[in-house]
Amino acid sequence: MGKYDFITAELSELKAQGLYNTIRTIGSPVGAWTVVDGRRVLNMCSNNYLGFANDPRLREAAKRAIDVYGVGPAAVRSIAGTMTLHVEFEEKLAHFKGVEAALSLQSGFCANLAAIPTLVGAGHVLFTDELNHASIIDGCRLTKAERVIYPHGDVAALRKALAEKRDAPRKLIVTDGVFSMDGDLAPLPEIVEAAEAFGAMVMVDDAHGEGVLGSHGRGIVDHFGLHGRVDIEMGTLSKAFGVVGGYLAGKAEVVEYLRQRARPFLFSSAATPADVAACMAAVDILQASDEPVKKLWDNARYFKGKMAELGFDLGQSQTPITPVMLGEATTAWEFSKRLFAEDVFAQAIVYPTVPRGKARLRVMVSAVHTQEDLDFALSKFARVGRQLGVI
Ligand SMILES: *Cc1c(COP(=O)(O)O)cnc(C)c1O
Repeated sequence: MGKYDFITAELSELKAQGLYNTIRTIGSPVGAWTVVDGRRVLNMCSNNYLGFANDPRLREAAKRAIDVYGVGPAAVRSIAGTMTLHVEFEEKLAHFKGVEAALSLQSGFCANLAAIPTLVGAGHVLFTDELNHASIIDGCRLTKAERVIYPHGDVAALRKALAEKRDAPRKLIVTDGVFSMDGDLAPLPEIVEAAEAFGAMVMVDDAHGEGVLGSHGRGIVDHFGLHGRVDIEMGTLSKAFGVVGGYLAGKAEVVEYLRQRARPFLFSSAATPADVAACMAAVDILQASDEPVKKLWDNARYFKGKMAELGFDLGQSQTPITPVMLGEATTAWEFSKRLFAEDVFAQAIVYPTVPRGKARLRVMVSAVHTQEDLDFALSKFARVGRQLGVI
């Protein structure tokens, strides 16, 4: 018996089930066309909604920040890592989002780990949608609060659970705004009403609403006109914003509490000057113009319409996220491999990212795709779809 036999066994099992993840490598900036495993291919699966990942204005801002501030903060925010850039960014972001205050963190994942266990603990109750993102699930695991997992988007079940736990001194409802693998929206107005009826706090993860929903991409709270009624908005700067980072935003008092208590803020070093400056440039662009957001939606509508005409099952998406439902993991990998041979990059998404038997390609349209690019992708999807008997 070798010490690592369990690893060898589990890895072969993953391979046998078609769940082994072959990770492709990017060799260029991320754009409509991207070098992947050494080949220039049409990129249909990055979260580069607005094309900011290689925007010249963000690149310039990052370079300038390095010249002024160097490459790293060399400290956590609460000791010596808070640069004027962080403060300026938080103010700009809060203004853009229409909230009182914002706190910048190292990633969206960190932001969820920061907020949830700070807001609730032993003796409190947490209500979480069954399809919430892994980082919310892990945030929930870090608290001693009792956890109620409610069926996906089911506000009646949520209300029932809230009624049962009405005596708990603190209650927090947490949900994805846009569900990242299906592209459907949480029923946020109804969730907020339920929260108000039972005195619960609401936290929404806006990772896929940021830069996508609402006026100028201000996110899901703006989309539903719920300003001031959602206690904490968590967002990422790693998707539509094109950089990397996360934030928590809301009422000044709540944000100040998180600044004093949230562990990833207190015990993990601050975001780098280049990242923060690039994020600031992204906010400036969106504040000034909603053109990139409009282009994203035009492209998404065009692509999704044509894919539906071809006969693909696109699930329940209400956003630019376009799941192409394929069922078995092996079909999804084969589809992805054949597309890649045709110069289209769309990675398979399989268990545990989505439930077993619900494997898919998750196509992400970007504002930087041209109609010619989308037509190219459509012709390849049609060809491979017919080859594999999917359409
Ligand atoms: C990607 C994602 C995150 C994590 O954000 P990062 O900035 O990449 O760490 C959190 N929540 C949801 C719903 C996501 O899709």
